[in-house]
Amino acid sequence: MEPYIEIKAANPDCLLFYRMGDFYELFFEDAEVAARALGIVLTKRGKHLGRDIPMCGVPVHRADEYLQRLIMQGYRVAVCEQLEDPAEARRRGGKAVVRRDVVRLVTPGTLTEDALLDPRRNNYLFAVARARASSGDESRFALAWIDISTGEFRLAERDRGGLAAEIARLEPGEIIVSDALYDDPELAPYLRSLPHVTPLARDVFDGSTAERRLAGYFGVSSTEGFGALSRLELTAAAACITYIERTQLGERPPLSPPAREAQGATLQIDQATRANLELVRTLAGERRGSLLAAIDRTVTAAGSRLLAQRLAAPLTDPQAIAVRHNAVAYLVADASLRADLRARLRSAPDLARALARLVVDRGGPRDLAAIRDGILAAAAIAAELERSAEVPEELSQAAKALRLPDPALAAKLSAALADELPHLKRDGGFVRAGYDGALDEARALRDESRRVIAGLQARYAEATAVRALKIRHNNVLGYFVEVTVQHGEKLLAAPLNATFIHRQTLAGQVRFTTTELGALEAKIASAAERALGMELAAFDDLAAAVTAAASTIKRAAEALAVLDVASALAELACERDFARPDVDGSLEFVIEGGRHPVVEQMLAAEGGTFIANDCDLSPPRPDSEGRIYLLTGPNMAGKSTYLRQNALIAILAQMGSFVPARRARIGVVDRLFSRVGAADDIARGRSTFMVEMVETAAILNQAGTRSLVILDEIGRGTATFDGLSIAWATIEHLHESNRCRALFATHFHELTTLAARLPRLFNATMRVKEWHGEVVFLHEVIAGAADRSYGIQVAKLAGLPPSVIERARAVLAKLEAEDRTSPRGFEDLPLFAAAPAVPHSTPRDAARADVMAALATLYPDDMSPREALEALYALKAKANNGK
Ligand code: ADP
Ligand code: MG
Repeated sequence: MEPYIEIKAANPDCLLFYRMGDFYELFFEDAEVAARALGIVLTKRGKHLGRDIPMCGVPVHRADEYLQRLIMQGYRVAVCEQLEDPAEARRRGGKAVVRRDVVRLVTPGTLTEDALLDPRRNNYLFAVARARASSGDESRFALAWIDISTGEFRLAERDRGGLAAEIARLEPGEIIVSDALYDDPELAPYLRSLPHVTPLARDVFDGSTAERRLAGYFGVSSTEGFGALSRLELTAAAACITYIERTQLGERPPLSPPAREAQGATLQIDQATRANLELVRTLAGERRGSLLAAIDRTVTAAGSRLLAQRLAAPLTDPQAIAVRHNAVAYLVADASLRADLRARLRSAPDLARALARLVVDRGGPRDLAAIRDGILAAAAIAAELERSAEVPEELSQAAKALRLPDPALAAKLSAALADELPHLKRDGGFVRAGYDGALDEARALRDESRRVIAGLQARYAEATAVRALKIRHNNVLGYFVEVTVQHGEKLLAAPLNATFIHRQTLAGQVRFTTTELGALEAKIASAAERALGMELAAFDDLAAAVTAAASTIKRAAEALAVLDVASALAELACERDFARPDVDGSLEFVIEGGRHPVVEQMLAAEGGTFIANDCDLSPPRPDSEGRIYLLTGPNMAGKSTYLRQNALIAILAQMGSFVPARRARIGVVDRLFSRVGAADDIARGRSTFMVEMVETAAILNQAGTRSLVILDEIGRGTATFDGLSIAWATIEHLHESNRCRALFATHFHELTTLAARLPRLFNATMRVKEWHGEVVFLHEVIAGAADRSYGIQVAKLAGLPPSVIERARAVLAKLEAEDRTSPRGFEDLPLFAAAPAVPHSTPRDAARADVMAALATLYPDDMSPREALEALYALKAKANNGK
């Protein structure tokens, strides 16, 4: 056990997969942990210090599957391989142990294997470094993230809110921080709420050695070529690099030089908004039903990853957005080019990931074939684009990148690789016959010897007169002669026993060897071994050629993804009748005939039609800020759908897509906020009203004139008057302080009176028709206010018992007679003031509201005299509170 204990001691924070023959074995505590996590059998093997050693194992050929399950559960695994053949060890001496060592650490953020990765998603390793705030200032954070399976490498500097927003956008597979940061009282609760955070020793985050480490990885003398990076950025970048080197045991996956993402270059969308708008997955956690699933028409995995990236980070520069729109427009107009591109892309392999595996020496013959096919597809697509006239910038840039890889490399790979390829290089047989003369010779010898064995069998059968005599092969005995027990006697006796040497007797058979067979076997084995050795050498040679061309291959891979996204968005635009939006630097927001991209597709699948709606949040006067829509209407009328569709249209426009509308003109949005009132928020089990208020606070503190805010039924999660008051004050704040464009849906139609005094507040409502006491939803947004909430009609639609509906009607009539729908006093509230000296509401107001709320729930007809008296006492007590 000594070698094991030594290696385990060097990797204390990992489960150790210890290679023994065809299994990876785990021992001691690791075995107990893994057996539980994987649901496999825990056994024991030998004793250590007088106690049984717990053990479990996974077969090597299924290791990926078990690794994935462990990684998903947050474990890290050190893979320890045999570095020599057991035979070699034996040659070194009777008791020599096979040399073994850890060849890599498998962690969630440093995966390259296809089996461990989702082809359609990036998997980022993400490092956070912090510069302590000088007194009064906020802390600054440098972030670095790398997808080693594609080579993408980015940097950014952000404040605390920006840090959370980037983590929400990128959803890293693994986040690394220094021990110190992990235990920082201010950040600890947040960091511990995230999946897969790995705290690391401080040296990884040492700023003084950062530049040297980063430059060393790229083999340059200074990092100046990467742009002027701050010391904090260098620290985060070097932490990622060092962690990769440590987990890959020195192998260096091909990375692009770090590119900085400037603050403000992308639309900021916080975690709650992303979740709420169901951008990449639904609130229930599924891809199906998300915006991404609804718009994804890409045909390659790399294209799908890029589309998800762009959706997660829409742009804010109108010019950069137009570059993307130009490409989509071109491919919308040229349907045959689009179809050709998509057909060719469909057969293009995942170049980036195949490349990453080959460079870190984890690739197989099929990865080489992927490089060959990718280079050929790239060249063919470039030719296609070069034939087209006046290609827009994004496409012509891509065409140029596609021409970068050397066609000679593809030719070399074509010449070397066989038509049928094994998955693993150690299976051999992947080098084409005729590529390497010496290899062909060794193979011929191997195959020839096999024929000789067949001849030998015939000869032995004749000599022994045992027609059923066979020469067989297995891994334990190698080649052997086999006869049934009945004939065995004969071979065991003279004179045949001079030739046939007994090896094994089984229930039905007896097995022998002969000197001649032994010699032949040695010859076959050495020929096969030589052939495989030559194939492996050829593989290394080809992989080295690919590695040397890594940077051009990577650029071509990126270009293929860009083309896939552009043609997929064009395909989507044609299929779903999307229009090119106008995005500029104004504060306008005009959507004509807008639709919800996801709901529309769902309705279409069921044979329904979606009703298109307009929206105009543009400034009412040239020098003013944008509008706020106050949208009223009954439940189920389509308010939430309308709110979201306008936010989604803004996101689609700024990510470079066409939009589901007849026409759209959008003054660039810099931050997007979306919140749903607690009553609607079923996906979360937390104290929902508190969450709703925390999130609303975040909006009121952060939204600016260029932001777009979506508030859906805020104030629903508490008592009516509380909720109404909060909604009231929130609208005033949005109008007077934030001055943003906003959509506010509410069932408090009392709020519509605000429009009389807030010039940029616009009342809109969902049209409904009443029809013999039933409500018909027209899903149409019109100017004006809902006259009532139709709650009882909706309840009737939902199937409440008729007696309950009748009773509710009676109560409502009574309440309306008391004029509860426009509570006196609201119109007289002073307008919102940024920092009011005295609170608007006095204890007396609160008491009155309390009494009113209590009264509304009393049904005198249902009370006994005694209950009525008690209720009266309770009301009196509430009234006294206000004194
Ligand atoms: P609300 O928020 O007003 O309660 P929702 O937005 O949740 O209403 O919409 C309820 C349902 O009405 C949706 O699930 C959808 O099926 C349908 N719907 C909403 N808007 C439209 C529309 N514009 N056209 C057709 N159906 C719609
Ligand atoms: Mg709703």
